[in-house]
Amino acid sequence: MSAELIPSILDLRHRLAEVRRAGRVIGFVPTMGALHAGHGSLIEMARQQTDCVVVSIFVNPTQFNQQKDYDLYPRPLAEDLEFCSARGVDIVFAPAVEEMYPRTQLVFVDVLRVTEHLCGKFRPGHFRGVTTVVLKLLNIVQPDRAYFGEKDAQQLAAIGRMVADLDLPVQIVAVPTVREADGLALSSRNRRLSPAERRIAPIVHRALQVAEEQIAAGATDPQQVKTKALATFHPFPQIRVEYLEIVDPLEMQPVERLDGPVRVAAAVWLGATRLIDNLLCRPATGQIERFT
Ligand code: AMP
Repeated sequence: MSAELIPSILDLRHRLAEVRRAGRVIGFVPTMGALHAGHGSLIEMARQQTDCVVVSIFVNPTQFNQQKDYDLYPRPLAEDLEFCSARGVDIVFAPAVEEMYPRTQLVFVDVLRVTEHLCGKFRPGHFRGVTTVVLKLLNIVQPDRAYFGEKDAQQLAAIGRMVADLDLPVQIVAVPTVREADGLALSSRNRRLSPAERRIAPIVHRALQVAEEQIAAGATDPQQVKTKALATFHPFPQIRVEYLEIVDPLEMQPVERLDGPVRVAAAVWLGATRLIDNLLCRPATGQIERFT
């Protein structure tokens, strides 16, 4: 069955009102398109847990810091529709920019603290754009469950906090990061890498694993862990590290001691492409008992 393409908010609302009247549970997967197996994994989980899967495809201008990045963002809509149809998606909501922003937007959502560090520091206004468009999409679709990838851990944390603090009636589901065989996290931006850059790109995951190994082995000082992980990049002058941080997984604040679960997150530039990745890491079992 092909997925039903709906570009209009009003048409989508009417269609979903029918779905809700029939008592079907709605699962929602927001995306910017150029779909890959990472998105496929979100869709698959939504398929398993809900009766009607809605995928949105919208390259949201308000979350881009650079016009060039927005202009260059891939938009293969016909391929994306096939991708969705092949995976049993019921409805694809693909609005035009004027449909989502018919007038100057005067209302925004800012999730404080959670968006302060990591990408928030280097991409001013990015998360405000993300949380605002996600709130708009949640209000339009009104799903029972919405699915987000751990690949964008800070985005997931910000949206989780928005939903909690604004009492939104939706359950947020986190989906593990899908990787290539060599560890590179799947991303729509990977298609911009040259063959030489593509060969180097898995080093980002490798650096995070170096941190993970030390944390699992009982390291307690985040600075030492960071220094060792950063050394992974030294043989690769093509890589410019934007940040590598160790933060608590809920508020994404840098930790001073490794005594609970943390996210190790990094952003690097490889040529003109920015890559981000992260791992959820736990200290060695028994460590807390041993030291207290
Ligand atoms: P995007 O189209 O990049 O805005 O991503 C749409 C959703 O797919 C977000 O919730 C992302 O976190 C998620 N996503 C992107 N890449 C991956 C991946 N490699 N594994 C799992 N989820 C992903």
